[in-house]
Amino acid sequence: MKAAARTGGRHAPRTLKEHPSCAWCGACSVVCPVYRVDVRESLTARGKMHLLASPLARRPSATFQDIFSRCLLCGACENTCPRQLPIRELVVAARSGFSAFYGRHGVRKTLARLALSRPPLLDGLVRAGVLLEDRLRSLPADSGLRLKLGLLEDRPVLARSGIPSGCRQERPGAVGYFTGCLARHLQPAVGRATVRLLGDLAGRRAFVPAGQCCCGLAALSAGRSDEARRLARRNMEAFAGSQGPILTSCASCSAHLAAYPDLFRDDPALYRQAQAFAGRVREFGDFFLEPARAAGLRARAPVRVHYHDPCHLRFSARGGAAPRRLLDSIGRARRTEPEQGPLCCGQGGLFHLGYPELSMAVFRKCLEGAMAERPGLVVTTCSGCLMQWQEGAARERAGVRVLHLAVFLDECLSPAGEGSGGS
Ligand code: SF4
Ligand code: SF4
Repeated sequence: MKAAARTGGRHAPRTLKEHPSCAWCGACSVVCPVYRVDVRESLTARGKMHLLASPLARRPSATFQDIFSRCLLCGACENTCPRQLPIRELVVAARSGFSAFYGRHGVRKTLARLALSRPPLLDGLVRAGVLLEDRLRSLPADSGLRLKLGLLEDRPVLARSGIPSGCRQERPGAVGYFTGCLARHLQPAVGRATVRLLGDLAGRRAFVPAGQCCCGLAALSAGRSDEARRLARRNMEAFAGSQGPILTSCASCSAHLAAYPDLFRDDPALYRQAQAFAGRVREFGDFFLEPARAAGLRARAPVRVHYHDPCHLRFSARGGAAPRRLLDSIGRARRTEPEQGPLCCGQGGLFHLGYPELSMAVFRKCLEGAMAERPGLVVTTCSGCLMQWQEGAARERAGVRVLHLAVFLDECLSPAGEGSGGS
């Protein structure tokens, strides 16, 4: 049984006392992606449960805080824990007691979180990246800065090439589109592809309310529940005047939006509002599965496709079956899976900013498993995983295309142009 389904969500900070004690069985160690590359007991869920139960938790030292920041919140441990401990919730609750700049590169992580929570600030940063584009081009091809900022594709025409302006008006039968930060600010091609798929594949119009903002997952993961609640309220208000499904093109956003009620357990009115909102949220793969099957899509050329399964979807009640079935329905595309099963990519929201080397070490394990199956293309639906794969595949010179599933489906819809990658 999946962890989120078992625990009924993971957002309201609880204390260790409310749960059965850790059995010290070590089942969580075997599956922890951080422990696989940094073999220290303190980094496992078992180690963290031990620390939380110790007097050290009362006055968390810098070392204590560092240990709790070295967690991807991937959920693999929860999924395997026989005591069904809500480990991510307990880690987030511990972080909520830390100072604002906890863990390594605390300032960098805090600035990134604040930018995500303030759309005008994020817009300004993106536009600054646009202005700096020529200078970025002079950086070496494998420069970390270039790889990160190089993700701002379609830079000079961001305003014109983003979501079509007609989508701002709600019309009967329209599907609400929650873009998330990636499709709105960093990779508008994902947003455009999703809007086109809604029209050309599903026969529905898109409605993209202007007031929406970051889903708030980064704020919650940092233990800033007030900020996470503020962002959630803003998104609920943005979609309050509309009806019908709310589609997301990001698996992590989708899991977090669906868990909004957990943020408001102490407020009956907001809890009801959040439940109504969450009941409308549709995950990308699930939404487009039937329309894609009905359309009989075909890749432009035969291609082996590795589906990167985002942890936020894999360890949610929904699971990752729908995107796989969708890919299996595409002609000339052959889906590949790593022999040992899906692995975390190591992005972990703000984790990759705090611990870039550790993040890349986790990614390399993921890449190794995926590339053993010789894919020509990697697709995923999580914004964080997509950026990690794009950066990591370039750094490691993996020679594989990395696309959001929306962009791949859009390519399958339009026969013109180049093929989707080698087989
Ligand atoms: S959530 Fe993931 S990274 Fe964190 S302790 Fe559990 S398995 Fe390890
Ligand atoms: S799997 Fe659960 S019970 Fe077992 S050691 Fe880990 S946290 Fe404790």
